[in-house]
Amino acid sequence: MGGEGREPGPSFGGEMNGPSMPAPTAPPVLLEAGAAVGETARQLTRLGRGDHVCLVYERPEEHVAALVPYIRQGLERGERCVYVVDEHGVGEVAATLRAHGVETERARARGALVFLSQREAFLRGGRFEPDEMIAYFRRVEQESLAAGFTGVCATGEMSWALGPEPSREELLRYETLLNCYLPGSRAMANCQYHRSRFSPEVIRDVLRAHPRVILGDEVHENLFYETPEMLLGEESAARRVEWMVRQLKRVREAERKLVMMGMRLSEQAEENGRLYQEAREAVRARDEFLSVASHELKTPLTPLRLKLQGLKREAEGNEGELVPRERVVRAAQGAEQQLRKLAVLVDALLDVSRLTQGKLALTWEELDVTEVVWEVVERFEQQAEKAGSEVEVVAEREVVGRWDRLRLEQVVTNLLSNALKYGAGRPVHVTVAEERGRAVLVVRDEGIGIGPEHQQRIFGKFERAVSGRHYGGLGLGLYITRQIVQALGGSIEVESEPGRGATFRVVLPRTTPSPLGRGPG
Ligand code: ADP
Repeated sequence: MGGEGREPGPSFGGEMNGPSMPAPTAPPVLLEAGAAVGETARQLTRLGRGDHVCLVYERPEEHVAALVPYIRQGLERGERCVYVVDEHGVGEVAATLRAHGVETERARARGALVFLSQREAFLRGGRFEPDEMIAYFRRVEQESLAAGFTGVCATGEMSWALGPEPSREELLRYETLLNCYLPGSRAMANCQYHRSRFSPEVIRDVLRAHPRVILGDEVHENLFYETPEMLLGEESAARRVEWMVRQLKRVREAERKLVMMGMRLSEQAEENGRLYQEAREAVRARDEFLSVASHELKTPLTPLRLKLQGLKREAEGNEGELVPRERVVRAAQGAEQQLRKLAVLVDALLDVSRLTQGKLALTWEELDVTEVVWEVVERFEQQAEKAGSEVEVVAEREVVGRWDRLRLEQVVTNLLSNALKYGAGRPVHVTVAEERGRAVLVVRDEGIGIGPEHQQRIFGKFERAVSGRHYGGLGLGLYITRQIVQALGGSIEVESEPGRGATFRVVLPRTTPSPLGRGPG
């Protein structure tokens, strides 16, 4: 083992690897293939050169689960894996590795996997000498690197230490020396301790001497690890206190991180829940909209079809006679009216899609709100009559400013048609005035009114405060209206009480550049 009178270097052709190598036997029941190696394997990937870990196992499955991936990962890293056998024997270990897919024979043939007996490793000179053992380890490392391996992945069954030799002190000293040697080296070591076979005193020492511990299927950062200085009794009380304080803080920090992580997770879960609800709500609104929209689009289609069918029947049934002109005109007028309704719906849908994409273009020109209001009111004459509502207009002679004519018409149209729809049978009042340099348009009806809980909501996309069974509509009019008013730099508000009508008040600055439009020019 490197000392005088001993072999100068590691020799891997000895009793375990030479011609006298025991023939591999079938794996005994205790080391059955298929043991769970997954989780330990994953955690073992965190280990690498310079690490010193102990495997404290109780059950054979734990031994297999830790050792198989340890060796496999070493081979994959291109390291020489050195396994010092004792209680399990080469045949058993090799067979277990093979049973878990490690190409044992090929690895052994090229010297990547080497089995050593305790006599070849720990007890080279006939007795155990910790310093000699470290020197030997160093030579194994050098020789392995010289042979082209990337490092050494060593592991030893420590059952050999159960005999009268070594003493507890010697064993502890050996583990401590490993902690000095390994960091910074190209080697790593995994000392295997079968827990029930060692005294608690030895296991206690082992747990103090390894920076990491494999227990069950977990690789633990060892809180009880003591530096070589501490273990060899050279440290002062002050240093020990410092260490203890550090350990306490480490535990506290780990707890704090866990709590934070838990809090973040629960916040995340809450946020996910909220997003899920929002998504569900959006899907519900879309489904409802689709059903309302198809219903609304179909409504004008039915009378349109009936009108055309009637006309066709008359033309076919009249045996060559011409259908009277006024009948054709009436049918065409009826059809046109339904088509206009369809066009209004389609325009609303197009507006919404433009607004959603931020593509509402405005054409600014000088115009008079009073004139626009009169024009729209005139257009609504028939509809107002049908609704049994009189539209009363109180307007200043002229309220001039720069706006977009078509969009302003749309605002008046939407408010007036709502007033006639929801206030049918009662008068509708429209006022146009100038207040503090701004144009103010008020549309008031005496109809069903709007509950306070709906008054903000109704300006949203697809939002309605009435049932589709009683009143048709897409729930888009007020949304579009507010978007236009805002694009013109103004605002819209509603005041209402259920059963006592509704008052919509639009305030427009008279010259307002808008980020959405081309500016007042
Ligand atoms: P629609 O009338 O197509 O449903 P709007 O966006 O124009 O869509 O209106 C949204 C909702 O606001 C209506 O469904 C209705 O509940 C309510 N609303 C609008 N105007 C009035 C009004 N003048 N009186 C009572 N409720 C109204």
